[in-house]
Amino acid sequence: MELNQEQIDIKLAAREFAEGEFRDRAKEFDEKEEFDLSLWKKACENGFVGTFIKEEYEGAGLGYLEHSLIAEEFWRVDPGCGQAILSTTFGAEMIQAFGTEAQKKKYLPLLVRGEKMIAFGITEPDAGSDAASIKTKAIKQGNKYVINGAKMFITNGCYANWMLVFCITNPEERDPHKRASVILVDTDQAGFEATKIHGKLGIRASNTAEVSLTNVEAPLENLIGREGNGFYQLMDFFNKTRNHVAAQGVGLAQGALEMAISHVRKRKAFGGNLSHLQGIQFMIAEMATRIEAARSLYWRSAFLVDKGKPDPALISMAKWNAGDTAVYVANQALQLHGGYGYIAEYDIQRFYRDAKIVEIYEGTKEVEKTIIGSGLLK
Ligand SMILES: Cc1cc2nc3c(=O)[nH]c(=O)nc-3n(C[C@H](O)[C@H](O)[C@H](O)COP(=O)(O)OP(=O)(O)OC[C@H]3O[C@@H](n4cnc5c(N)ncnc54)[C@H](O)[C@@H]3O)c2cc1C
Repeated sequence: MELNQEQIDIKLAAREFAEGEFRDRAKEFDEKEEFDLSLWKKACENGFVGTFIKEEYEGAGLGYLEHSLIAEEFWRVDPGCGQAILSTTFGAEMIQAFGTEAQKKKYLPLLVRGEKMIAFGITEPDAGSDAASIKTKAIKQGNKYVINGAKMFITNGCYANWMLVFCITNPEERDPHKRASVILVDTDQAGFEATKIHGKLGIRASNTAEVSLTNVEAPLENLIGREGNGFYQLMDFFNKTRNHVAAQGVGLAQGALEMAISHVRKRKAFGGNLSHLQGIQFMIAEMATRIEAARSLYWRSAFLVDKGKPDPALISMAKWNAGDTAVYVANQALQLHGGYGYIAEYDIQRFYRDAKIVEIYEGTKEVEKTIIGSGLLK
């Protein structure tokens, strides 16, 4: 599969933006566990955020493949900054797919313009991979929902103006997959409390929070999609966003490979540079081949999503394989730096720490393999 000229241009523009705007600041953001939100605004102004949002809601109306290509290029330059910028629309996919016309008009343009940020609260302290076992509850009182519960590891939990809450609305349903709904809440209200999580292994520029919801209110019209259909909507949502995570892994691996190549070309050893040693060439060849394979896989799975033919097993293969590739390549790239890779001055140490998240969020690698295996064996 080959990219068309527009897709190539998007990739090049994203690379140029990332290199010009955040390459030199990434180390500082990682150290301080902070980000400069003016970079998010600038990325919005330059049209990199929410490109998958349709033109009538002021997005570029591009596909999830293009959105993922931007992620690949941002993560190639720095995973933490890439996540800090592009995660700001995490949840818009759900509104676009299941929201009413009024909801799409109200929320989506402000996300594209960088005026508002959204988060999605699915995970709870006691419910991660088993999303159907969440406890957060929304109870109807008159013309509103009253929500109580807790959410864990919420990206942009401290910054988001709105959070989609995956919560139980139909506890009496016998089928646990028909108990949940997705409700949008304003975070600017008493009862919504977000506490920043410090000390993450990687993507430290990206905000992650623990959220508690105490009698948080949302008008009934803030239900996204159908009541009791939240679990199925979530699976549809992940079909789109997991390609994006696969792209993150590929971008990270590509960036790590480039650092390794640059290092072994310069590093003197055994009467020449490391790059002249066959053992080193084999390592580089293996890393490059795995990246190319991971890239082809996610391009294809994203392409099928954009054609309206999502293949959940293929998407899971793309995400699992990209995470595996990111962790493998970052490890090899650090190895090729020798002792220099072990100290913070070199960016490869940060990439090595960042890589692991691709195997954890939006479906751990075990969850992805379960989807692939159970699909094949049923
Ligand atoms: C930086 C960061 C950002 C995040 N952002 C968000 C966000 O914005 N919104 C959100 O809702 N969540 C977010 N998450 C949460 C993330 O999606 C979960 O951490 C992830 O889904 C795993 O859930 P868990 O941590 O509860 O682990 P668990 O589900 O407890 O899993 C622990 C281990 O058991 C394994 N396991 C579980 N079930 C099975 C099984 N059936 N078969 C085999 N192995 C299994 C898992 O693979 C894993 O290795 C984020 C997490 C992090 C770290």
